[in-house]
Amino acid sequence: MGKKQKRGSKQSIVPHREAFMRMNFLFQASLAVLSANPSHPQLSRFYVHTMKNVGKRLVLRMDPGMKRMLCKGCDSLLVPGVTATHRVRAHRETHVVVKCLTCGNVKRFPTRPDYQLWSDNPANVAQPQTTGEPPPTPATSGQTTATLDHSRAQTPTHPSTSKSPPTTTVDKNSATDP
Ligand SMILES: [Zn+2]
Repeated sequence: MGKKQKRGSKQSIVPHREAFMRMNFLFQASLAVLSANPSHPQLSRFYVHTMKNVGKRLVLRMDPGMKRMLCKGCDSLLVPGVTATHRVRAHRETHVVVKCLTCGNVKRFPTRPDYQLWSDNPANVAQPQTTGEPPPTPATSGQTTATLDHSRAQTPTHPSTSKSPPTTTVDKNSATDP
């Protein structure tokens, strides 16, 4: 399921750092190319396509703000007024409709004041592990307690594993991906 990380390795080093740097460069390059020549977005789309391929190959997560700027249909950068239209709609619940002007693909984002992305919640973000203990995560469900008993049965002398089994965190992470 998940990737195994070495506990003893240095935690400050980001895994796949070069790939993240390349994705960042490709994103900025596509934005620069599009702003220099908005009437010909082909090169910008190629850069975004390459960036998504790099992320897919190594299963890297993009920042949600970055991901919301990309069209799923044609890999265009969704710049308001240039390659996309942004409209506020009040049907059912007030939301923003982003429409790609190249392929017509539509994205909808809620505008609730209390709306929070799953990754913006600090409880869901893993803290850097300096003491070797797992990060505290508020996981309270029936499945969690089942895993809890299992981990207790395996390692009875480790008290810090009772709060956060890493398998449930990975499952939550993949299930709530926008
Ligand atoms: Zn599109």
